[in-house]
Amino acid sequence: MITDGHNHTKHFSPDAGQTIDELITEARSKGFTRIGITEHYEVEFPEDGLDWTFNLEEYDKVFSDWQKRAGELELLKGIEFGYVPGVEKEIDRLAELIPFDVVLLSVHLFRGKDFYVDRECYKLPAKELHSEYIGLMAEMCEKCSNYDVAAHYDYINRYADNKSDFVTYDECPKEFDRFFEALISKGKALEINTKSIRKHIDGGFTRHLPDEAILNRYRAMGGNLICLGSDSHFPGTFGVCFDEAVQYLKSLGFTESVYFKEHNPVFEQL
Ligand SMILES: [Zn+2]
Ligand SMILES: [Zn+2]
Repeated sequence: MITDGHNHTKHFSPDAGQTIDELITEARSKGFTRIGITEHYEVEFPEDGLDWTFNLEEYDKVFSDWQKRAGELELLKGIEFGYVPGVEKEIDRLAELIPFDVVLLSVHLFRGKDFYVDRECYKLPAKELHSEYIGLMAEMCEKCSNYDVAAHYDYINRYADNKSDFVTYDECPKEFDRFFEALISKGKALEINTKSIRKHIDGGFTRHLPDEAILNRYRAMGGNLICLGSDSHFPGTFGVCFDEAVQYLKSLGFTESVYFKEHNPVFEQL
């Protein structure tokens, strides 16, 4: 079974509603042998009454106990840092404080706003919005050093109003090329986020799988590190759409995915 490398629990992620025990039980029942736990950590975030940071040493301690409770299910100790321009040094510093298996980087804010709540950015033409967002993903991957995976490049699209908007390669080839150049030259991985696929299906979007031109371009540039993550926050959402994603990747010629153990990529046959 392919590793689901992106999951949250309510113990450290303020927007999650599942316990570690619920997550472990669900992963086991779905036949997984290894999962990544990647709790949210936002160095800078607009005030929303939630605490998007936590004590890393405490997490490190609690995690050893979680691994004991998980038994033969292997837990990868991870974190998901949110990027905004200027926090790169702090992310690189925090990422070295405890021994992580995997560090994810994400862009959850657009022009300083949480677009899950603030809908302003969706008034922009889709091409403009997507170009600027992928440009931020590129900048994040260029400026940060201590990370393993760029998570959900299509996050901006999850909450779009126009159901025919979709992040495509042709809208912003320069930004995608910069993004992939940074990932590939640094040996970092590209995540296919299966929660995005689920959200696009549930939201009634006209497309739901990642644009094949994006993945074809990544591969043509030499990219071969693809991670899968369901980004689960609540019971019942772990490993969602994995079969669809795996079939799709195979149809595009990918043969392996990857997970990270002590920051080293480990390949799995798709
Ligand atoms: Zn979240
Ligand atoms: Zn996440």
